[in-house]
Amino acid sequence: MQQEATCTLRRGWRACDHHNRRTLRKGARDRIDDRLVPAEHVVQETDEIPEDIVAEMKELGLFGLTIPEEYGGLGLTMEEEALVIMVMGQTSPAFRSLFGTTVGIGSQGILLDGLDWQKSKYLPKLASGEILASFALTEPEAGSDAASLRTTATRDGDFYVVNGTKRFITNAPHAGIFTLMARTNPENKGAGGVTAFIVERDTPGITIGKRDKKMGQKGAHTADVIFENCRVPASEVIGGKEGRGFKTAMKVLEKGRIHIAALAVGAAERMLRDALNYAIERKQFGRPIAEFQLVQAMLADSQAEIYAAKSMVIDAARKRDDGRDVSIEAPCCKLFATEMCGRVADRVVQIFGGAGYIADYGIERFYRDVRLFRLYEGTSQIQQLVIARNMIKQAGR
Ligand SMILES: Cc1cc2nc3c(=O)[nH]c(=O)nc-3n(C[C@H](O)[C@H](O)[C@H](O)COP(=O)(O)OP(=O)(O)OC[C@H]3O[C@@H](n4cnc5c(N)ncnc54)[C@H](O)[C@@H]3O)c2cc1C
Repeated sequence: MQQEATCTLRRGWRACDHHNRRTLRKGARDRIDDRLVPAEHVVQETDEIPEDIVAEMKELGLFGLTIPEEYGGLGLTMEEEALVIMVMGQTSPAFRSLFGTTVGIGSQGILLDGLDWQKSKYLPKLASGEILASFALTEPEAGSDAASLRTTATRDGDFYVVNGTKRFITNAPHAGIFTLMARTNPENKGAGGVTAFIVERDTPGITIGKRDKKMGQKGAHTADVIFENCRVPASEVIGGKEGRGFKTAMKVLEKGRIHIAALAVGAAERMLRDALNYAIERKQFGRPIAEFQLVQAMLADSQAEIYAAKSMVIDAARKRDDGRDVSIEAPCCKLFATEMCGRVADRVVQIFGGAGYIADYGIERFYRDVRLFRLYEGTSQIQQLVIARNMIKQAGR
């Protein structure tokens, strides 16, 4: 990740021709192999991403992938973002989580629905990586049923007084701002009573809970965010209007579904590549295990499913870039790609045999890491519900 890569990323993406896209993806892949893959065990053991790698990620422009160029980002299209995330998925997901949560969901509310001055104030700092943005929707009593959230924001002159707890918030310990969804209308218990705010971390009344101990994704940190009589300027309502916060959150998550699906494709590709190499090298009964047809079936099924998921992601991303409705395609991508990734992880552990269960080989770490993909930003069941609901809606009944 040296100067040359930075230039390629910053100039190459904008030029946006096929040659540059390929060059960038190749460059990014090389750097993943050179820098990130060797650091995976360090992240696993220390639960931290080394500072020099964070600095290089900032320098590469990763924190500003989706932020428009006028605000200092790279302004990638959805398709371009998906391609970069597929590459970044080929290493520990914690690396992606650090910048991807900001570009994927943390900053999107401001980008999609924010006022011009809100964009000018926050997006350049997010694009450079100076600050991170967390997306604060989930609560102890409101997960899948996010519209029932209980955090309140009560108007008091030029401020709103916020009270409540947000749960499992990615990057909360490092965030400079939160995109917060809170209820401004206590009479309206559903989606229409929710407003989105930008809340700066150093606002008095915010406490970050202790880091959650997770099944996987060491190096990516989540925590509760507790608001106690936290006074947020009324000017920080995203878009300047009450009652639109849930819509903003859903728009953000619809885009996030394609992003996470791309991540799942990348992770599955990495695991399958490792499994193929292992299967070619590992000998039993005097032959590489790759020659056994039962092992070949696991390799082939994984390859076919990855190809299907990848095609879906590219198709949905292109449709979104064309301004078309992806309210069915985006959850289809998240559902299929993340479930596919889980199946690939399981087969890959099987191909590694006992070694698949032993930490030194790294596969058990991926097996745990990718389990999250089927849970966050809407579980698989919620994706199914969204797909079916939109199918019925589109059928006009
Ligand atoms: C590591 C991690 C990082 C996260 N990061 C963030 C973040 O940055 N910001 C944020 O706001 N949230 C974040 N979350 C929260 C995450 O989005 C929620 O955990 C997820 O949406 C599920 O909500 P829940 O945990 O409350 O599960 P629940 O909603 O309680 O669901 C439990 C089970 O019931 C099923 N279920 C629920 N309702 C239905 C239904 N109607 N029909 C069928 N099945 C149903 C679910 O699919 C699931 O299987 C994160 C979570 C984790 C674990």
